[in-house]
This record gives sequence, C-alpha cells and structure tokens, in this order.
Amino acid sequence: MQTLRKVPTEYGLHWKTWVWFPLIDLHSHTNESDGTCSPAELIEEAVRAEVDILGITDHDTFKGYDQALTAGHEAGVELVCGIELSTKLHGRSVHLLGYFLAQDRLPEFRDWVLELQAARRERNVRLAARLRELGFDISLEEAEARGRGMTGRPHFAQVMVAKGYVANLREAFDDYLDESAKGYVYREEPQFGQGVARIRNAGGIASLAHPVRVNGDVPALMPELCESGLNALEAYHSDHGPAETKLYLDLARRYGLLVTGGSDFHGAVKPGVKLGTGCDGNLQIPLDLVEKLRR
Ligand code: AMP
Ligand code: ZN
Ligand code: FE
Ligand code: FE
Repeated sequence: MQTLRKVPTEYGLHWKTWVWFPLIDLHSHTNESDGTCSPAELIEEAVRAEVDILGITDHDTFKGYDQALTAGHEAGVELVCGIELSTKLHGRSVHLLGYFLAQDRLPEFRDWVLELQAARRERNVRLAARLRELGFDISLEEAEARGRGMTGRPHFAQVMVAKGYVANLREAFDDYLDESAKGYVYREEPQFGQGVARIRNAGGIASLAHPVRVNGDVPALMPELCESGLNALEAYHSDHGPAETKLYLDLARRYGLLVTGGSDFHGAVKPGVKLGTGCDGNLQIPLDLVEKLRR
C-alpha cells in the first residue's frame, strides 16, 4: 500500500515532486502486550496512518506479530518481526529491541522468550498477593483478563483504576507499582548483555530502545553497551526532541551502530502517540532506514 507522497525538501528534490516512498514505524505494541489494539486493529491503524513498513515489538512475546501477519499481508502493510525485552543494566531497567531474527534460529529464541514469560507469571502471582496484603481486592485472574499472555504491572494498574483504588494509572505506579513504591515485587529479568547476546546469536539486530529513558548517562555507557554486542540505537522515538535525536544519531555514527526508530504506539493508553508520526508529528524516520538495516 505504498502511498504517493510529497518528498520533503531535505531529500534534495523540489518539494512538489511526488514519488513513492515508505512511511516507516518500527516500534509498536498490540494488546498481546501492553497496547490496546488487537493485532488486526493495529493493521487497520497502520492503514489509516499510511504506514507502509510496521515493526511490531510487543514486550516479551511474538503473539501480536504472528496474529497480524495475515491482516498485514491483505492490507499491504509490510511487517517487521520484532520484540522488546526488559533487561537489567547495573540494576536498572533498560529496554532492548530485537529485529530481523534469522528464521532458522528463531525457534530457539522463541523458547527462551517462553522462559521469560514463565518468570513474569511467577512474579505476577507474587504481585497479586502483595497487593492483597496491602488491602486491595485484586486477583491475578483480573489482571490476566486484561493482559493475557503478557500480563504486567500496567494491567494491575488498570484493575486498580477500574476498582476505584487509585484515580489513574500514574497514581497506581507512583504509589504502588513503581520500583520505588510499596507494592513493587521483584521480577527476574535478563541482564542487558544476555538480551543482546540472545538477539545477536539469533542473527538479529539489537537496538537500545528509547535511549532518552535510560536512567543513566548514555554517552558514558556507550563503550560498555557496544562491548556487550549492541549494534543499533533507537535514535528516532516519540520521546525524543530534535536535540535528543541528533545526540543519538551522533553516538550511533561515532560507535558504528545502526539506527532504528519508531513511535512506540500503545493505542488508547498513550493517546498522544500516533503510529508513524509520533507526538504532534515529531517522528521523522528517514525513508532508507529499513533498507540500511536489511543491508
Ligand atoms: P512489567 O514488565 O510488568 O514489570 O511492567 C513494565 C511496564 O510497566 C513498562 O513497560 C511500562 O509500560 C510500565 N511502567 C513501569 N514503570 C512505570 C511507571 N513508573 N509509570 C508508568 N508506567 C510504568
Ligand atoms: Zn510497552
Ligand atoms: Fe519500552
Ligand atoms: Fe515499547
């Protein structure tokens, strides 16, 4: 469904020139993780937003991608298989994106992802118990009814809002679910280097997700991140202003890393983030980004 668009002036052509070029978004979530759109609805959204190449990067699962394949094919939206892993780096949570995993090494990677899911479920059992201990009438089943295969803290937060225990999701996290809050329970997560190694061993591209959200000095961390095998940075992201995008593009160039980008679309839970264009159109992903990754 490649759309006829005006070429921006920075591509060196007269602005009135009309050519075919793809709108790219390599970071999105379905309701198989913490997004609100079903895989089919995400494809409908991509069609509406005129996104031609869509990366589905659910947290710790490929279920959204798997289910979107048929709809994507029918709608002419090219799908890129991806995943977003929550990893630990020096005790802090760092998100890692994996793309273009080799088909023949995918089964082993998928088995590992199932192990991550088992660890998540075990944490959720303890989280439900902890919230009940704090006096809330909340069961694991209620959270799982919302989060299904990838139930996480956001789904517990939704239940807390629905039951009137907190005013909104922000309050649920600030007061109970955040790492620093009283309802937090530990989850066994892979170390950053382990996540990178798993993705790279499966032939994939490992990209540091939304570096602006890394709780630490990213420029200073770069040598260590590269040492662990990281081979891309998500320079384009809805949370990045022009200065941040430039910083991460410069770092990628300096350390010889590939560049990825996407909106991090989550549907109704993050209404300000639009597929393909980010927040108020701040996402401007170069037309040749996917081409470069494929190379
Ligand atoms: P989980 O993987 O179940 O531990 O939940 C992690 C998810 O919860 C993240 O991907 C975020 O979407 C969300 N999250 C974590 N911390 C916060 C916070 N302080 N405020 C809002 N959302 C958060
Ligand atoms: Zn998410
Ligand atoms: Fe993330
Ligand atoms: Fe994300």
